[in-house]
Amino acid sequence: MHRTYKPIDVAHLANGLELALPLHELVGADGGPTVGISAAVHGDEGIGVEVIRRLAADPELEQLRGRLLLLPVANPLAFQANTRNTPLDMTNMNRVFPGDADGWLTEQIADVITREFLNAVDVHIDLHAGGLYPIVDYVYQMNAPDLSRAFGRPFLYEPPHPYEGTTTQVSGEHARTVVVELGGGLVAQEPYVELSLRGLKNVLRAAGALSGAPETPPAQTLLHRIETVRPHEGGLLLPVVDQVGGNVRTGELLGRVVSPFTFAVLEELRAPYDGVMILTHPTLHRIEPGDYGYMVGELATSEALR
Ligand SMILES: [Zn+2]
Repeated sequence: MHRTYKPIDVAHLANGLELALPLHELVGADGGPTVGISAAVHGDEGIGVEVIRRLAADPELEQLRGRLLLLPVANPLAFQANTRNTPLDMTNMNRVFPGDADGWLTEQIADVITREFLNAVDVHIDLHAGGLYPIVDYVYQMNAPDLSRAFGRPFLYEPPHPYEGTTTQVSGEHARTVVVELGGGLVAQEPYVELSLRGLKNVLRAAGALSGAPETPPAQTLLHRIETVRPHEGGLLLPVVDQVGGNVRTGELLGRVVSPFTFAVLEELRAPYDGVMILTHPTLHRIEPGDYGYMVGELATSEALR
């Protein structure tokens, strides 16, 4: 197996520094698919960087078949600021793909990623997480259900309409795609790093990039509806349900927003239906109106996979 680090120049910033994207190419001795793995498309989802770093050092990759393209920090400006969007132009990069070479800086970065990374892959895995405060645990099922299942998490989600302008809207036109949402929040990340590493290697086996039969996925649930419960009031969020994966009943209290001034309870956030917790907050923190409160998967419309 042969490794090359090939940073891709994007532009000079106003401060004179060169903005480049980190691309690692690993080429196996035997033929196989080109698999691209990206992380930190959102800059506050740093766990994916560590997952890719650990994968790159994994001894199993010595037996790689085909080619692996690793893009650990897709949006370095958002990663620097620890924010979801790019601070320079306030843009969510995962809504502007395939990008625009003549557009805002975030659109220029997306254009480079499309040309140098997304267009080159046969399989694309995009790693996301819950961000600074929320924790999340599910995998999108899009055009490659077998690969999504192979990641091994208990809940899969097939959205009724794909989001416009995502990385996988571009890669999904020619490649098999998986989007992972795992980890994040003010909680130890190591268990989620290990789950991600194991899941990624199993996807690589299922895709033929690593030898050996993939592990059979556990019993999984395919969700068709996930509702995001967003607060209408800002303040201090005090979580009641602070773990993902458990069941909640219609109207069950998920958390409270209290005023840091008067201590009054400004809002109670409740489950919209009988469901499973997909995104929550492991601990209290300040929250703004309209931010991610909770995500609840609907059980009535879900399917058991076996
Ligand atoms: Zn994300």
